[in-house]
Order: sequence, then structure tokens, then C-alpha cells
Amino acid sequence: MSRLVLILGDQLSEDIAALAKADKSQDVVVMAEVRDEGTYVRHHPKKIALVLAAMRKFAERLRDAGWTVDYTTLDDPDNAGSIVGELLRRAEERGASEVIATEPGEWRLIDKLRYAPLKVQICDDDRFIASHAMFEGWAEGRKALRMEYFYREMRRKTGLLMDGDDPAGGQWNFDHDNRKPAPDDIQTTGPLTFDPDQTTRAVLDLVAAEFGDHFGDLEPFGFATDRAGARQALAHFVEHALPCFGDYQDAMLDGEPYLYHAVLSPYMNIGLLSPREVCQAVQDAYDAGDVPINAAEGFIRQIIGWREYVRGIYFLEGRDYTDRNVLAHSRDLPGLYWGAETKMRCLRQAVAQTRTHAYAHHIQRLMVTGNFALLAGVDPAQVHDWYLAVYADAFEWVEAPNTVGMSQFADGGVIASKPYVSSGAYINRMSDHCKQCSYKVTKKTGEGACPFNLLYWDFLTRHRERFENNPRMGNMYRTWDRMDEDRRKAVLSDAKRFLKRLDAGEVV
Ligand SMILES: Cc1cc2nc3c(=O)[nH]c(=O)nc-3n(C[C@H](O)[C@H](O)[C@H](O)COP(=O)(O)OP(=O)(O)OC[C@H]3O[C@@H](n4cnc5c(N)ncnc54)[C@H](O)[C@@H]3O)c2cc1C
Ligand code: SF4
Repeated sequence: MSRLVLILGDQLSEDIAALAKADKSQDVVVMAEVRDEGTYVRHHPKKIALVLAAMRKFAERLRDAGWTVDYTTLDDPDNAGSIVGELLRRAEERGASEVIATEPGEWRLIDKLRYAPLKVQICDDDRFIASHAMFEGWAEGRKALRMEYFYREMRRKTGLLMDGDDPAGGQWNFDHDNRKPAPDDIQTTGPLTFDPDQTTRAVLDLVAAEFGDHFGDLEPFGFATDRAGARQALAHFVEHALPCFGDYQDAMLDGEPYLYHAVLSPYMNIGLLSPREVCQAVQDAYDAGDVPINAAEGFIRQIIGWREYVRGIYFLEGRDYTDRNVLAHSRDLPGLYWGAETKMRCLRQAVAQTRTHAYAHHIQRLMVTGNFALLAGVDPAQVHDWYLAVYADAFEWVEAPNTVGMSQFADGGVIASKPYVSSGAYINRMSDHCKQCSYKVTKKTGEGACPFNLLYWDFLTRHRERFENNPRMGNMYRTWDRMDEDRRKAVLSDAKRFLKRLDAGEVV
């Protein structure tokens, strides 16, 4: 009897575990475009189009390789609308009672498969370098799960950027070289883009009709939608952007969404590129002398360090992770996250490019949109839903730890040893937004004062009990305590007024 082999939209890798376990001559691959997955949060139309176009092309590749594929399009009148519904329908059609699946990257779907009225064998997703067992072993008995130590183990395990037992360049981490603000004469090509072919065009029409009311611009659409395109995008990044990646990793510039970032996360996260091959391309460029160590190390750390680490945390912490809210924040996500007018230039830029490209780089996500939500005390569950919806690379295993943990500190410090909060000074140092803003970044109180300046102190005051004894935050409290009392009062009352106007839906 044939078995069904489930391939999800972020499992588009020919060496995926479920395929490796299956028998091409008798098992049937099931792939389905289902409404449930497109709407459980209102995903950006570009993200939906990327996934659907890449699924259709992957199904063709599998057929060319000799697999039988039962593929259901979104507009198929028999479409059951959910993954489990489709599995049941195909099981009946094929007379199959067993399913082989690769572990989904989300508890929601894992549970749906576990409790489906079918025998489902869930295989480990070995596209990741660290298995669950390795991460659990590393985490066991540690007081704090800091990424840096995990990363060193991963360097040793993979042999990437290693000189024997020692780190290449004599240091594990070159982050101190990677905090330069962007220069005025930045030369960047941005990521490689692709004209939609016939398959992608058909998907774009479908997405426009079905999900056109979701936040985000569907067109122009330039993502690669197959492995060959993703490989070209990788080569383009390594040649044109990687050499400067390290230096300007934290910089932000008005009208420059990409700077020297890779924009490879959408491809890695849906399986068109493997993290190993991406890192190997970077190692090769370093070995050839084409990129400096701070760029190669900084980039490889993001992948074998952060990417693997956040996945480990997501699965280690369990199903309730996305509900955590240790700071008891409850404000609704302000309308400006969905494009409502704002005078704050940094936020307007980050949200506008998110709407256009389904992309913002790490510092924009962490120190602009994330920082503001944290300072303003927004409900982390709503922040999580927003990040999961609006970015082309957003899948819960990677998005949730970054949002709930790193950015909103809602997990109480599992990921971050202190909250990532800053006043306007940080944004001013790392960007040119403040020069063009209606607010004045150097103004701390009164008319025109930068809202980040007000909210920063308001946040620290609200959470004093929790943070004042944090060794990395003591200085902040000492600075606050040294300010004269009238000034402190003015800051807090201006912050209160600002939040009131924000809640009232006024343009702030
Ligand atoms: C609040 C918040 C939400 C985020 N949500 C996501 C998400 O949904 N999906 C996602 O892939 N990344 C997420 N990140 C991490 C990071 O911002 C993106 O991986 C990165 O911006 C992707 O763009 P890039 O490919 O140009 O990355 P680069 O800056 O060029 O980095 C290279 C690669 O490193 C990896 N990487 C870098 N930082 C991280 C990180 N913190 N966690 C995991 N991988 C990392 C990515 O795969 C990325 O492609 C989030 C970060 C924050 C602060
Ligand atoms: S002044 Fe404040 S609000 Fe304006 S861009 Fe700078 S940090 Fe953002």
C-alpha cells in the first residue's frame, strides 16, 4: 500500500527527511495550497506568492525526478482548505493510511499532524545543523542560554572559520568592528531580482484575487522562486555585498532598505538554499581572500549562531512561548504598524519598506519597530502576529524567539540578558533618519522631543524593580537618578501625554 509524503510550503528541499524516508516507486507526495495557512495570520501577499510559486516549481521538479505528486491548487474546487483535510482527502483517494512528514517549524502544525486521524510518522528536520538533541544537551544544566557559547560549539562542530582548534583570525567574534554607521556615498546593488515567469505570474494573479486585501504590495515581485534562482541570489550577495556586510551590518539609511544585507532568509527558510551551502559559499570567499574576516565571521555567526540558536530555543521552551508576557504589556499595536500616518521618520521608513518589500533588516526590526513597541508597552502577542504576517521570511520557529524573546523581552530574559531598548540617540548614530524627521532627536522634553527619548525613560521607570539590579542596566538608572527632579517629571508627563495621543489614534 502506498504512503503519503507530506511536503509543506517551507520544506522545498530535495533532500528533506520525509522524501529520504519514502519510496519513489510507490509512495505519493502530497502538496497543497490551503487557505488555512494563508490566513491564520494575514500574511503579506508577497510572502504568499513566494511560497506558492516555489511550491508549484518544486512539485514540477519532483515529478521530473520520477515522483508521483498530488498537488492541490488554492482554487481547486475540491480543496479541503487545511493540511489535515487535504491529507484525509488524498488518503481516501489513494487508499493510503500512513503519512510521512518532516517536522513542521510550528507547534500549531505539529499538533495538527499529531492529532490527525491518520498514522503520521514525523521525521526530524535535518536541514538544521543542530538537532533538538544537540541543543537540549548544550542547554542542560546551564543557568543562562547565551548564544555566544552555543555559537562557539557550532563553529567547532562545523569546522567553519576554524584554524585547527582555534578560531580563524584569532577571535571568535568580530562584532566590535561591525557597528559602523553607513557612509554618505554608499555603493550597493541590493539583492538580485527576477522577472516573474509564467508560473509565478499565474500565482501573482491568484494571490491578487484571493489575498489582495492583506497589508503589503504584491507587485513588483522580484523574489527567486526556485533553487537555481536562489543560488544565483547567493552568488550575487557573496560577490557584491558580503565584503561590506560586517562593517555596515547595523546601519540604516533613508530609502536604502537593503544596504549590504543578504536577503537570503526567505530562501533558506523555505528550503531553496541550505544553511550549510550558504555558509560554505562565505567560507570559500574568505579562503579566496575576497572578504575580510569581520564580514565572513559576522555573517556565519548569524546563520550557525543566531538562526540555529533561536530554533533551539523555540522547541526547548515549548508551546506556550508565544503567550509569554512577563512585562504585562497590554497596549494594542498602534495603527502606524499597518501604515497609518506617523511623523516619526524611522518608523515610517521601516513600515513603508516592509509594506513594499516584505523585508526590513535586523536593526530596523530590533531597534526601530521592535524597540518602539517595547518602549510603548505593546502586547507582545500582537507584536508577534505582526512580525509573523509582514515579512517574507517569517515562520514561527524563527520569528517568535526573535520577537517575543529578543525584541520584546516577554520571555523574561531567556534569550536576551537585557531588553533591547534605546533612546533616539542610537537611531541617530546608526542612521540618517533623524536629520529628516519632524521630531528633534536631541530634544529630551517639550514640543518636538523625539518620542524614543520620552518612552525610553518611561519604560525604565515602569520596570525599575525588574531591571535596576541588572548589571548591564545599572548605569542607565544612575543617569536617570542624576537628572534633576523637574526634568524627570517633565519627561514622564510628556511620555504619558504621547502615549495617550497614540492610543487615541492621533498622528504622532
Ligand atoms: C523582531 C524580529 C523578528 C524577526 N523575524 C524573523 C523571521 O521571521 N524570520 C527570519 O528569518 N529572521 C527573523 N529575524 C532575524 C533577522 O532580522 C532576519 O533573519 C534578517 O533580517 C533577514 O534578512 P537578511 O537575509 O538580509 O539577513 P542578513 O542580515 O544578511 O543576515 C544573514 C542571515 O542570517 C540569519 N539571521 C540573522 N539574524 C538572525 C536572527 N536573529 N535569527 C535568525 N536568523 C538570523 C538569516 O538567515 C539571514 O538571512 C527577526 C529579527 C527580529 C529582531
Ligand atoms: S528623531 Fe526620533 S522619531 Fe525621529 S527619526 Fe530620529 S529616532 Fe526616529
